[in-house]
Amino acid sequence: MLASDEFSRRTANELGYSGFYPLITALRQAPASAAGPDFLAAHADEGVRKARDLVAFTFRFDPAAARLETLGPEPGAATRAWLAGRLAARPAPQKGVERRYETITGDVTGSLRFAVLSPVDASAGSPVVGFGVATEALAARFQRALARGSLFPPSLSHGALGNDALSLRVFDPAGREIFRAGVPKEPYLGVERPFASDYNGMLDGFVVRAAVDAAAAPALVIGGLPRSRLPLLLGLLALTAGLIVTAILQLRRERALAQLRSDFVSRVSHELRTPLTQIRMFAETLLLDRVRTPGERRRSLEIIDREARRLANLVENILRFSREERGEDRIDARERDVVPLVRRLLADFEPLVAGRARIEVTLPEQAVACVDEEALQQILLNLLDNAVKYGPEGQVVRLSVVAAGSRVVFSVEDEGPGIPESERARIFEPYYRLPRDRSSSVAGTGIGLAVVADLARLQGGEARVEGTPRGVRFAVELPAAAPAAGAG
Ligand code: ADP
Repeated sequence: MLASDEFSRRTANELGYSGFYPLITALRQAPASAAGPDFLAAHADEGVRKARDLVAFTFRFDPAAARLETLGPEPGAATRAWLAGRLAARPAPQKGVERRYETITGDVTGSLRFAVLSPVDASAGSPVVGFGVATEALAARFQRALARGSLFPPSLSHGALGNDALSLRVFDPAGREIFRAGVPKEPYLGVERPFASDYNGMLDGFVVRAAVDAAAAPALVIGGLPRSRLPLLLGLLALTAGLIVTAILQLRRERALAQLRSDFVSRVSHELRTPLTQIRMFAETLLLDRVRTPGERRRSLEIIDREARRLANLVENILRFSREERGEDRIDARERDVVPLVRRLLADFEPLVAGRARIEVTLPEQAVACVDEEALQQILLNLLDNAVKYGPEGQVVRLSVVAAGSRVVFSVEDEGPGIPESERARIFEPYYRLPRDRSSSVAGTGIGLAVVADLARLQGGEARVEGTPRGVRFAVELPAAAPAAGAG
């Protein structure tokens, strides 16, 4: 922008002060009959002689008689008509505005017509003198303006940038390019500016389009902006880029989560339906007296009991999970001996194993931990259920409770397919299931381990997973004692 303004300024100098102005002055002082191009070429003043190439023809217009006389090469009927029309329609003189000359531009048969004339003076009605501009001579003036050195203000570029970093194009009022210097290397940073209009309206309607090579732009910015602002701008730029990236990531994450949620709903429905179907089926069998032996009767009841427990466990997980998601899960952790609690749980779990696995238990005499009874049950139930569910039939599942200083460690170990190390961090995430299990027949909702991790955390402990030679081991560490009053 600054470069294009500087270009306007220099052009005003080359074209106005060293061109139009001396020419018009000479014409006004000349005897009417002789004021033609030849007169100008032979003028005593060197400035007038040098500017003479700008003149195609000269004219004198008498407003009273609407008569146009020209000297030099005949401008042609169309140009004459245009000029006479424009001169006759000149606006009334503006009081208080003194101009050295005026310019008019127009379009005749697709070409630029450009005339410079003596200003409307106070004594309206006096003849107007002027000349038609040889438009091909304009380019030389633009070129000269450019040749006067770098258009970049030294304060900005520190003299480091020359006009070769710049491409300039000038367009006439009809939008035709009449001058071009330099070829812009794209991508470039460009501006389009009207020619500064305050130089006698010299090039009113003309436009300069200036573009700086992108490669050269940093030299301008770094050299020119106050130093303190550069880090700020860069910072803002980085911040904007960061925000955009974050928004995109967030969007992708939300989409992925929405997908997981909808998968979850269909999985839950499926998981609810399976035990319900079994319960209804065996209940009907009993109701309709279809069982033949007391053994069959007992088996039906066992299945109903097992499926009802499974259902209860699933519902409990979902409730825990949704409470946790809303931040509403409260637990009541107290110091208590967990051994009897674990024994009770094992008895409850037995029907769920249904002979698929052998549970080996290692319990100390006593182990005091600060736990919420139901939360601990839910944790162990989920871990045992997974161990049985994902491991092979006939495997040994080991449950142990070990008091280790200020912590009590509950662990469940199985002989199943294990969990690849790369997936271990993710399996505690809500809805997450290992790829191999997503399409397998092993039903699951993907929230069991999320609930385990949340409940462990709520009791002041943590859950982790580690590989074993034969399968996988989940461990939940809970505090042995309640935190001392006032601590933490
Ligand atoms: P799910 O309802 O799918 O069992 P979980 O949150 O309990 O949900 O477990 C998440 C995923 O971790 C399971 O889908 C399964 O892929 C994997 N996983 C959990 N426990 C075991 C295990 N004992 N052995 C192998 N993979 C397991």
